[in-house]
Amino acid sequence: MNPEANSVPAAGQGKGTLRVVQLYPRDMNIYGDWGNALVLQRRISWHGYTPELLEYNVGDPFPDDVDIIVGGGGQDSGQLVIQEDLQDRAAALRDLAEDGTPMLLICGLYQLFGRFFKTRTGAVIPGIGVLDVETHGTDERLIGNVKVATPEFGEVLGYENHSGQTSLGSGVRPLGTTAKGTGNNSSDGHEGARYRNIVASYLHGSLLPKNPAIADFLIRTAAERKFGSFQPGQPDDRYAELAREHAARRPR
Ligand code: GLN
Repeated sequence: MNPEANSVPAAGQGKGTLRVVQLYPRDMNIYGDWGNALVLQRRISWHGYTPELLEYNVGDPFPDDVDIIVGGGGQDSGQLVIQEDLQDRAAALRDLAEDGTPMLLICGLYQLFGRFFKTRTGAVIPGIGVLDVETHGTDERLIGNVKVATPEFGEVLGYENHSGQTSLGSGVRPLGTTAKGTGNNSSDGHEGARYRNIVASYLHGSLLPKNPAIADFLIRTAAERKFGSFQPGQPDDRYAELAREHAARRPR
């Protein structure tokens, strides 16, 4: 037996544990957003770390030692259900964000990590102000496949379905510029937001299976924060590439 083979940790072993927390999956998890957490779980393992996937729902004790936070989309009604609990967690989530915790926030939670979401009926759901963005509900629903040109992650592909339109303040930068689809709003051509180690986006699909560069950014950042460096493994990207090819061919 090759003695060196023993020194190479098998997938999922040896490099330490990374804890992923999915926020509010009971109320905020539509269009397959849970797939983002599953991709992180699988790729953490492919990179040779041990994934730990936890759910946080309204009323739960908030987990300690969080390495990556993932939040999904939800109907306006789901946002109303979680809003009070989210405010109770606002200070802790803000501290994690400012401290550089990598986070992926999709659609409904993207909106609520901003300053506020004013719904079509005029109700204001306060956000937690981690992101310098605000969202206004409109009568227009933005639906369809989206391609985004991003400086950090290349071409990002996904699917949008929202009536809230988000505008960015000077404290965040856009994730990218839409090449197909609408993104944040129907006026400025931007999609998503970037702030510290947060990636926020309107894109479902789910996002990470088709955009492994974003998954690896979250994992690399988490590993560097926790262990001082990231030692990548060898992920199997065949299915991600097939999914990207397929998604890129879809009409709007
Ligand atoms: N309810 C919000 C909107 O329509 C968020 C929708 C979503 O998360 N897909 O703007």
